[in-house]
Amino acid sequence: MAADRRIVIENCAIATVDGHDTEYASGYVVLAGNRIESLGAGRAPEGLENVVRRIDATGHLVTPGLINTHHHFYQWITRGLATDHNLFNWLVALYPTWARIDEPMVRAAAQGSLAMMARGGVTTAMDHHYVFPRGSGDLSGAIIGAARDMGVRFTLARGSMDRSEKDGGLPPDFAVETLDGALAATEETVRQHHDSSFDAMTQVAVAPCSPFSVSTELLRDGAQLARRLGVRLHTHGSETVEEEKFCHELFGMGPTDYFESTGWLGEDVWMAHCVHMNDSDIAAFARSRTGVAHCPSSNARLAAGIARVPDMLAAGVPVGLGVDGTASNESGELHTELRNALLINRLGAHREAALNARQALRLGTYGGAQVLGRAAETGSLEPGKLADLVLWKLDTLAHASIADPVTALVFGAAAPVTASFVDGRQIVEDGRLLTADEDAIARATRDEAQRLARIAAQA
Ligand SMILES: [Zn+2]
Repeated sequence: MAADRRIVIENCAIATVDGHDTEYASGYVVLAGNRIESLGAGRAPEGLENVVRRIDATGHLVTPGLINTHHHFYQWITRGLATDHNLFNWLVALYPTWARIDEPMVRAAAQGSLAMMARGGVTTAMDHHYVFPRGSGDLSGAIIGAARDMGVRFTLARGSMDRSEKDGGLPPDFAVETLDGALAATEETVRQHHDSSFDAMTQVAVAPCSPFSVSTELLRDGAQLARRLGVRLHTHGSETVEEEKFCHELFGMGPTDYFESTGWLGEDVWMAHCVHMNDSDIAAFARSRTGVAHCPSSNARLAAGIARVPDMLAAGVPVGLGVDGTASNESGELHTELRNALLINRLGAHREAALNARQALRLGTYGGAQVLGRAAETGSLEPGKLADLVLWKLDTLAHASIADPVTALVFGAAAPVTASFVDGRQIVEDGRLLTADEDAIARATRDEAQRLARIAAQA
């Protein structure tokens, strides 16, 4: 939308998720081009010029768009498998199938993953992709193209693995890259696709998969590469007791100390899970401003444990939410993770004081922007920030009898999305994507899932 064209949204409750948690029981938001121009209580200012659209949002809550900080899009076509396994057994069961993916499969899976999140209010997505079988095509290009076509803001965490079965790792030998090959391909992806501008739609991070699937050299050299290129770093950390044991046996230290020894703590780093953290691990994350992608449903699905989110927040660790790959969280929706984060953390040590509705909403918005390094641009509704926001419909059977809109959104059923805007462009209307054909994507993902299952069965 041209910079001088305005959209006015009025008569809605607003949760800005700014530094003071400012909320308006009834207010307005004015979008100008791809930015939020103004917002506040009551009606929009009179006399605005070039208003191309006025939305009467009565019965709605407007929030910043949701930000997903950890995912593996390709897993969309391997959902519902190995359903009763812990992480290591689940990985061993699925790697032989994942090793057979190709470009059409990855494209369809990316579309499925993105569509499911976008229509549930996600405006910034990320994909940690780390399986690059030899001769499988331009997987990074396919994923980035899918996000661009859908109109979702996007970070590709270009993953890699170089520790296979023969080196004591879990992936089969043919599913991994060489150290030099992984570093060169990652650098090429950054150079080709990373945009560092304020309103970037595509960014790239350096993202070796996990301590137990990559060599120490790939971690250390990957960190140096990211800092040389000025991009962020992402990986899995401290997910399970088995991983902790693996690190002690191989490296003589726990995961956080191992990460520190390889250059992997810092304000340009975010890690998925961080379930098994002691007090000194949390202090190290807080001191270094290392971010965390909290994935409550996936952690429950794989029986990994409960991350100490209240302790992390109290220490000042930046925390966002992630759905994780959909082979370990079959729903693939982020708005339901607001509720799951709140409920699962209340099963931990802090009980009813663990998280409240506003903290859960903050994890899914501003916290996500922090860990993706985009808090100046998105994650809260403030003048000058990007026009990424969602209108949640809260006046139907599911929510109408709950007085407080943020409580309704977080504690209640998954709320319908009346409209979702990214960069000032509407991508969802009444729960349906405007930028893609959901039914065509559903068919393509089913076809590609069946093709992958056939190829894997023949291998
Ligand atoms: Zn993951």
